[in-house]
Amino acid sequence: MAVVKAGGAAAALSSPIEQTIDLLGDRLTVAILREAFVDHVRKFSRWIDRTGAPPAVLTTRLNALVEAGLMVREPPSAGREHHEYLLTDLGLAIWEFLVSVWWWQREWSPAGALQPELVHLDCGHRGPPELMCRHCNRTVKARDVEVELDSSSLVFAGHSGRRRSTRTNPEPRRADLQFTEVMEAIGDRWSALVTGLALSGVSRFREFQSILKISPTTLSERLMRLTDAEMLTRGDDERQYALTPRGRALFPIFAFLLAWSQRAHPDTATPGLGLRHRRCAATSLVPALRCRGCDLTMTRTSVRFEGHPLSR
Ligand SMILES: [Zn+2]
Ligand SMILES: [Zn+2]
Repeated sequence: MAVVKAGGAAAALSSPIEQTIDLLGDRLTVAILREAFVDHVRKFSRWIDRTGAPPAVLTTRLNALVEAGLMVREPPSAGREHHEYLLTDLGLAIWEFLVSVWWWQREWSPAGALQPELVHLDCGHRGPPELMCRHCNRTVKARDVEVELDSSSLVFAGHSGRRRSTRTNPEPRRADLQFTEVMEAIGDRWSALVTGLALSGVSRFREFQSILKISPTTLSERLMRLTDAEMLTRGDDERQYALTPRGRALFPIFAFLLAWSQRAHPDTATPGLGLRHRRCAATSLVPALRCRGCDLTMTRTSVRFEGHPLSR
């Protein structure tokens, strides 16, 4: 069940989670980060080659990543026209989110078999990991968590800081093409919030509406898109929605989005959206990835993607 906190002052800015969704709910941005993480891409021209993005669009996304503190810009070295971009610690901390996006694509997208293999270097195990709670070490499923939503901070923020229009996105090509399906669910703040609420057990139209306080038209449109993308399915009652297995499988992506958002905005009193693990005493879930081969918690430097189709 979702727990909705009432009251609180209206936030002047978007809540951290909305800022995170606005930043990371973008195919090209995720593709840029993925290339930087998997293949250590840092040169402007290589991202152009890999993503097919027009230079002006790539510049905008890289600037946004620098502004948000995920990357630092290094001055062009001799004979180079463009800056180089390096991941910061905050940028590197996105790796679990990237793994969970990969995991979903691998299991639920028709092109999943084309995905590279995730290898745990400690034991050599290949394949998807398991989501666990860092506090109690138990495996975590969507049904084990309670979603805490501070509706006041979300609602007011919903009217400011409109995310850039998807029209400014280039036509998806190569690297970013594979994120299209995931982006149906997280590529816009309302879709992301609707999916997040559905993960926490909200199912009725009126319930979504009373928590999010969005117009029925906007809500209907998002519910329809999520239904078309087979993330949600309609119940017998027309106004009731349930997650499909592929919708429920988005849970790790959400858990890591929220965890990263909290790391990126450590001083915010109202994170907007939080997860609580019901089975332990931790007040907010700190998710981690566990290897299914050796049961160890994965670390960033203990995993590698192999057979990356784009590196050939
Ligand atoms: Zn726990
Ligand atoms: Zn292992």
